[in-house]
Amino acid sequence: MLISTDYLVIGAGASGLAFADALAAEADVEVTVIDRRRAPGGHWGDAYPFVRLHTPSAYYGVNSLALGEDRIDQVGGNAGYYERATGDEVFEYFADAAGPLTETGRGRLLTRHEHLGTGSDGEQVRDLGTGELHDVAVRRKVVDARYLEASIPATHTTPFQVAPGVRLVSVNDLPAAAQSDCSYAVLGSGKTAADACMWLLDNDVPPDRIRWIRPRDAWFYDRRHFQPLEQVDAIMEGNSLDAEAGAHAANLEDLFERLEASGRLARIDAAWPATMYRGTMLSARELAALRQIADVVRLGRVQRIEADRIVLERGEAKTGSDVLHVDCTALGLNNAPATPIFQPGRIVLQQVRALSPCFNAALVGFVEAHRDDDADKNRLCPPNPYPSSIKDWPRMMSRTWRTEGRWLSEPDLSSWVAQSRLNLLRALPDHAEEPSVQNAVKRYLAHVRAAIERLKQLDGSTSPSG
Ligand SMILES: Cc1cc2nc3c(=O)[nH]c(=O)nc-3n(C[C@H](O)[C@H](O)[C@H](O)COP(=O)(O)OP(=O)(O)OC[C@H]3O[C@@H](n4cnc5c(N)ncnc54)[C@H](O)[C@@H]3O)c2cc1C
Repeated sequence: MLISTDYLVIGAGASGLAFADALAAEADVEVTVIDRRRAPGGHWGDAYPFVRLHTPSAYYGVNSLALGEDRIDQVGGNAGYYERATGDEVFEYFADAAGPLTETGRGRLLTRHEHLGTGSDGEQVRDLGTGELHDVAVRRKVVDARYLEASIPATHTTPFQVAPGVRLVSVNDLPAAAQSDCSYAVLGSGKTAADACMWLLDNDVPPDRIRWIRPRDAWFYDRRHFQPLEQVDAIMEGNSLDAEAGAHAANLEDLFERLEASGRLARIDAAWPATMYRGTMLSARELAALRQIADVVRLGRVQRIEADRIVLERGEAKTGSDVLHVDCTALGLNNAPATPIFQPGRIVLQQVRALSPCFNAALVGFVEAHRDDDADKNRLCPPNPYPSSIKDWPRMMSRTWRTEGRWLSEPDLSSWVAQSRLNLLRALPDHAEEPSVQNAVKRYLAHVRAAIERLKQLDGSTSPSG
């Protein structure tokens, strides 16, 4: 069967759907989205049972459809902050978000379809249900919405050896495997490992029964600074702290000391150097809870688990048959190197503005609809890889600020950004008269130019600059 379409989007995760939604809203084109999974939503379809968005639902998803009700939680660990959807809610949301795309008659969603590559008759796609091969004739562009495909616990392969009889589960299976008489060894440094520890603590496992095998220590944002709408002053305050720290930083170490001293970033153990930075966030309550876990093993990555010991890169730790090992070592965010987003006949979706995956995909859709020249599109949307280490912060922030500056001289784009529900600063104009907003904007504007220059000097990356 030969299908023809203007755009073939490979990947129906958040990025592919946010791109398709924005493009279809702005241009009279036919868009086909394919995914090898059974349903749209990408990694959310295989997420661990207790995962939630770490950012508010208010600015997550596709531009045309709200996620949640912009409610401020009154009770629980997120009290006082905007609601954050559970993994199941995000997954259901993306099924709803894909609906309108197909209902217009200009969109098509093919799940259980895998892109194999480019053949002589077009793009080759296999129907995983029937095994049939289809050629897709693409009139305009192939959109790679899986370049940054997330590596998640459900699909990754355990990267170390495990002796027979050792009790090891993926974080997805933790709730089912947890038993009242277990001790736990949580393996991993990032947000998933922090979530696993929080799940154990919230389920009344005493902190002294949890060992955290943490190859790297990580920096986390304070969630307070990511609250939109009525609390948008907090986001602006966070931006001003970034700009102030960037403008005055003597070096990388000094930069992170400044970010920590201002309350912008925190590490679980303030006495231990943290080198990992992945742009994730915790609340003050989560941070305090995680600090109760005192048994932290910092001997590098796990090499193998034997019946009575965990062998690590730089030593070993005791273990035993009463210990449930929880594998949280999947990479999560994919920090693939930058490549131009707009290429001849092709779009490779990547980050542009820091920490805004859905916004970025929709932005690229808007720019694709309203600009003709690839050089101009790439000027407005330079790639900005996901961060992994503290060394990535200067590049990520300076590139974000330079790019945002370029949008300001493009009235149509600025107007779209200002109104997009995916823009975390959307409510700023409505609160412009508030003293807290005015103060934060003033400090941000006073420092951002100097911060861009200083951070360019501190940027050790070799990827193309935007
Ligand atoms: C656990 C976790 C929590 C997160 N929480 C947040 C958050 O709170 N807020 C936030 O802003 N961001 C968050 N992120 C960042 C996250 O990466 C994005 O939010 C987003 O969901 C990523 O979507 P994606 O479409 O880029 O990738 P994916 O969800 O990985 O989707 C890529 C899709 O491409 C498909 N695919 C790959 N190859 C092919 C092929 N050859 N043919 C067909 N299909 C193919 C895959 O099946 C997959 O469905 C989180 C990430 C993780 C891992």
